[in-house]
Amino acid sequence: MPLGEFDIIARYFARNTARRDVLLGVGDDAALLLPPAGQALVAATDTLVEGRHFLAGTPAAALGHQALAVNLSDLAAMGAEPAWALLSLSLPQANERWLSAFAEGLHALAERHGVALVGGDTVAGPLVITVEILGFVPPAEALRRSGAGKGDLVIVSGAPGVAAAGLEELQAGRLTFDAKDARVRRFLRAEPRLALGRALRGVATAAMDVSDGLLGDLGKLAQASGLRACIDLERLPIAPELAGYPLAEQERLVLHGGDDYELLFTLPSDHFGLIPRLAEAAGCSLRCIGTMVAGAGVECRRDGAAVDVTGSGYDHFAS
Ligand code: ADP
Ligand code: MG
Repeated sequence: MPLGEFDIIARYFARNTARRDVLLGVGDDAALLLPPAGQALVAATDTLVEGRHFLAGTPAAALGHQALAVNLSDLAAMGAEPAWALLSLSLPQANERWLSAFAEGLHALAERHGVALVGGDTVAGPLVITVEILGFVPPAEALRRSGAGKGDLVIVSGAPGVAAAGLEELQAGRLTFDAKDARVRRFLRAEPRLALGRALRGVATAAMDVSDGLLGDLGKLAQASGLRACIDLERLPIAPELAGYPLAEQERLVLHGGDDYELLFTLPSDHFGLIPRLAEAAGCSLRCIGTMVAGAGVECRRDGAAVDVTGSGYDHFAS
């Protein structure tokens, strides 16, 4: 007998949570949640559509991870602490193997970050996954895109581009989803930088997560802050996974690759000495790649001279 909507919810998505601020979770008409006094509620949502945001045939466990991870990354970029998630799932069919793996991927990441799944919606239709995430941040310490100041340092976490390299291997058919290759693993299971987001509270002047590519996203931060970002190409962090690529390919992947969930942020220049401590608190490397200056847009320099780096971040409505 095929699984009904209520069986799916009960079997895969209704889980007990240790969170005391969930007065009522999955099962009633709506969840009842108790936000902590004095904190701002931070809310974000992201949708994954098959064929658009993920390749057909992507392992279900990776999709469960990614659907939540993209949202956690948005909260990390705000300096927020995630608390509750809602899941809206449109499924072509109720396949138990798929559902069980998907739920496993999602719950594993949720548990690592203390997030409770408190509700959602389950319907039949094309494969579309929407997660909404809710969390908290002290209102004065929230990290916005708009706060960068002239002279601030531009810093990026980790080494973006590895996930994009993995995606390209999959798209070209050179590697399969079950490959042990580090690029493919990163693409399927990148970890959002929540510890870094927390460490940057009240320290970074502006922050955002890299989801559409470093260059395009830095352009958004620069625009929101009313400044120009200048980056030095020779300072870009190159991941060991990309060591075998020609320099131009390394730069293309680092500048235009998304999906690593790295954070991009600005710091007043007199905070340069804080970077090692921030990196230690966050458990990741941090690299200063440039500075904010007067003007608009993003400028790339090599050995001090401006260079044209074509291509921009992924835009769903660009032709
Ligand atoms: P209603 O018809 O009142 O909207 P539903 O039948 O859609 O209720 O959902 C029943 C309960 O299950 C609700 O608490 C809802 O939030 C939860 N729920 C439904 N689908 C999911 C899902 N995919 N993940 C988590 N909770 C879900
Ligand atoms: Mg409903």
